[in-house]
Amino acid sequence: MGKINVLTEEVANMISAGEVVERPASVVKELVENSVDAGAASVTVEIKNGGMSYIRVTDNGGGIEKDDLKTAFLPHATSKIKNGADLAKIMTLGFRGEALASIAAVSSVEVFTKTKADNFGSLITVKGGKVLEEDETGCADGTTVIVRDLFFNTPARMKFLKKDSAETAYITDVMNKVILGNPSVAVKYISQSKTVTSAGDGNLKNAIFAVYGADYAKNIIEVDYSDENIRVSGFIGNSQISRNTRAYQTFFINGRNFVSRALSAALSEGFKNTVMVGKFPFAVLNVEVNPAFVDVNVHPTKMEVRFSDDKKVFEAVYWAVKNALEKKRVVPEMKMPE
Ligand code: ADP
Ligand code: MG
Repeated sequence: MGKINVLTEEVANMISAGEVVERPASVVKELVENSVDAGAASVTVEIKNGGMSYIRVTDNGGGIEKDDLKTAFLPHATSKIKNGADLAKIMTLGFRGEALASIAAVSSVEVFTKTKADNFGSLITVKGGKVLEEDETGCADGTTVIVRDLFFNTPARMKFLKKDSAETAYITDVMNKVILGNPSVAVKYISQSKTVTSAGDGNLKNAIFAVYGADYAKNIIEVDYSDENIRVSGFIGNSQISRNTRAYQTFFINGRNFVSRALSAALSEGFKNTVMVGKFPFAVLNVEVNPAFVDVNVHPTKMEVRFSDDKKVFEAVYWAVKNALEKKRVVPEMKMPE
């Protein structure tokens, strides 16, 4: 007998869960992204104990068909792509089909879901990767996912979690990005410390208000720039809301939040001589490009993307910022009375 074992699916899922589900905030991110991908107009997120004991995500999106519900929990099960070629034109946030399988491998998950076409909803309970219950249920159109007892079977991972308040802060950060990235989705986020709601009226300024408050929303300048292949839109802050951290800079590429030193540098460059040295301008910027020019398939949790032409994106952000600032400074010509 040789020494090599092929691991069971259960163990394999626990291992990939280690990649996808780092902490409660990763669960919230994956579930809310599924709601957005399902076309939800409203999403409610409720957490208890920093998400460690309880996470609920309820949406009014398309729902999951009864026959698909169990399959959705299998690794690499996705309705979003079919083949390798589809990877080059991803417009959804998810595409790996790993989240539900990974989350359910290390927690207890209940899903209640109903599509418009179905008369009844269906429910499933999966704990530690095992299906415990499947049934029909009465529920509204859309999907509710409840995750309990995260990492109950992976004590090592559990040990690395921080205090409730710190885990809540990670989740709040995820939710802020969700609100900023989806102004058309009405978001309600309920944690023990506070409730945040966004209007979902499609107005990014209102989303910025919901996340940062009036002092920020009053000091922002609109950005809208396009050249033939790329559009940069959103808001930048005036010097009053520059901070000594990049934490107030948010970038989206085709709706996906990512971090990029290069774009942060392009932003600063556009602000040259306007913002004090050592301070970072506030920004919420959406970059839209043909999905063929960006590789989002980098790493499941790292917020990185690769552009086929970095320089072009850098320049577009630079010009978008510079033009917006210059427009702001133009003093309207006044006709003097004769
Ligand atoms: P992915 O998002 O990469 O496709 P997931 O494991 O997150 O993989 O989800 C698997 C599948 O389950 C999705 O492709 C989708 O069809 C379905 N699904 C998950 N969550 C929802 C939801 N909230 N609404 C509708 N469908 C969902
Ligand atoms: Mg997903």
